[in-house]
Amino acid sequence: MNKESLEHRVRAIKDSLPPTVLLVAAAKTRDADEVTVAVDAGITAIGYNYIQEAEAKREQLREWETTAAPHPVQWHLIGHLQRNKAKKAVELFDIIETIDSLRLAEAVNRQCAAVGKIMPVLIEINSGRESNKTGAPPAEVPVLVRQVAALSHLEVQGLMTMGPRFGDPEDARPYFSLTKNLFDQLAAENIPGAQMKYLSMGMSNSYQIAIEEGANIVRIGTKLFQN
Ligand SMILES: *Cc1c(COP(=O)(O)O)cnc(C)c1O
Repeated sequence: MNKESLEHRVRAIKDSLPPTVLLVAAAKTRDADEVTVAVDAGITAIGYNYIQEAEAKREQLREWETTAAPHPVQWHLIGHLQRNKAKKAVELFDIIETIDSLRLAEAVNRQCAAVGKIMPVLIEINSGRESNKTGAPPAEVPVLVRQVAALSHLEVQGLMTMGPRFGDPEDARPYFSLTKNLFDQLAAENIPGAQMKYLSMGMSNSYQIAIEEGANIVRIGTKLFQN
């Protein structure tokens, strides 16, 4: 890792974002050192995809987090969660961005109830309706949001999507736009227990387009941590 260039990329990307957009550093496969440098340079939210990796990193970073980090760090689960890992997810994360079924939501809710934690969650949408992808089909999202919002220990705070991957990020725009439309529609419905506060979409090659389409969380890995 080149510390100065990582710090420089954090600042450059942060400076390029509107102040209302939260930058989540997608840190899969990055070592604890890279995470501390990124946080020291201004990152406030770290995203992990896998429970096992997040557990190992949080363990390595625990002392630094409590004694040396310049500000609190928010931990986002951005990868698919299996129901049998709900307990760990509840221990490790401050927000779960990838709730895509009622059964998963119920499993997380049960674990939250057991420890008295209220978990903010986003509902993940399979905006490209791709058969091999996670996320709820767009047509099912309004019902799912209502069902999840009714669970006692989950707080729906918005939507997340990956969208299909394209070489030309312009091709991702319709999927971001579809997700934003759903977000606005749900916001207008004022569903009890569901706030439409966060719209998480856009990665290294597509985040500018996602922001133009209304994202206020972007999840960036490669462009931040590249060697
Ligand atoms: C890896 C990952 C990202 C970041 O992707 P990059 O193209 O490396 O910026 C964002 N979101 C999720 C869910 C990811 O798994």
